[in-house]
Amino acid sequence: MQVYMLKRQLTDKEKEELIKEYMRDGSLRCFVDNHPIEDISQVDFHHISPRCERGPTTIDNMAPVCKDHHKLIRTLSLQEFRDKLMLEKFFTEFKKADGIRLDEVLYFKLDGLNYGNPLNFEKTDKSIKIYWNTGPELHSLYTCSSGFQYFYALIPIEYIKNDFELQPRPLESKRMWELYRHFLRYTQLAPAICRLVDRQVLLFDGQHKTAAQIWAGRKYVDCKIYIDPDIQSIKETVLAAHDKLRQMPFYTSKLISIYSDLFKDDWEDYLELAGQKSEAGFVEYLIKVKGKTKTEGLKMLRSAIQ
Ligand SMILES: [Zn+2]
Repeated sequence: MQVYMLKRQLTDKEKEELIKEYMRDGSLRCFVDNHPIEDISQVDFHHISPRCERGPTTIDNMAPVCKDHHKLIRTLSLQEFRDKLMLEKFFTEFKKADGIRLDEVLYFKLDGLNYGNPLNFEKTDKSIKIYWNTGPELHSLYTCSSGFQYFYALIPIEYIKNDFELQPRPLESKRMWELYRHFLRYTQLAPAICRLVDRQVLLFDGQHKTAAQIWAGRKYVDCKIYIDPDIQSIKETVLAAHDKLRQMPFYTSKLISIYSDLFKDDWEDYLELAGQKSEAGFVEYLIKVKGKTKTEGLKMLRSAIQ
């Protein structure tokens, strides 16, 4: 069963091309974990990236999958399904008494090599010049009201480490999975926050969103980096920011208008499909095609009615 509604079906010629592309050592490989599919008549095709939800079915975004795996995919794309299995395996294999943190994610994704690399840099009062493997890069330095210097940069993931002293909390797999799905579709709004100490970039705020983005395949993280700040002062800042000063959630009326904007596009997409239309059918569509949960689907419908 094809769970994703295809705007058009692959032709036999395109299927042949895909089969050719996914042949390794004489057998066709299932996209999910690369295992051989012995019987070519037992192959299905599915979307790789969820980005195609609004786009056409193109051959670059399709891959072969065995019937057994295909049955388990439900509303996910192939990439999400593969990363989900990998995430479950990762949390089982790396199970530690004191929990899993960003460092384990980096170790896993970088094959145990080359993570937490020291940063080579030269600094003046106004700027910092970083020597990456690919060449030098100059960044402006700013000073905050507490007198700490900082800069913004896209940091290659092999230079990042978890800040154990300021961020001792372990990762939660459920939250990481939800953020992973979010970042496959949306951009990172606010940078992760780090400090540069003894040439190490230690990330202390945004551990979950960084881990989620690394899981989604990003090789760089958008960061704000303080240069060797007073740790006690940063500790107090983090505590205050996560306590009573944390970002206010949107007011309900604002949320409703955001939901109805979202709903409008999805509703128009839904109307383009063949067949009878109903509110129940629309919720079904949100679940099957847009990957929403039933609660989310109903919430969107309710907000639009209000
Ligand atoms: Zn398979």
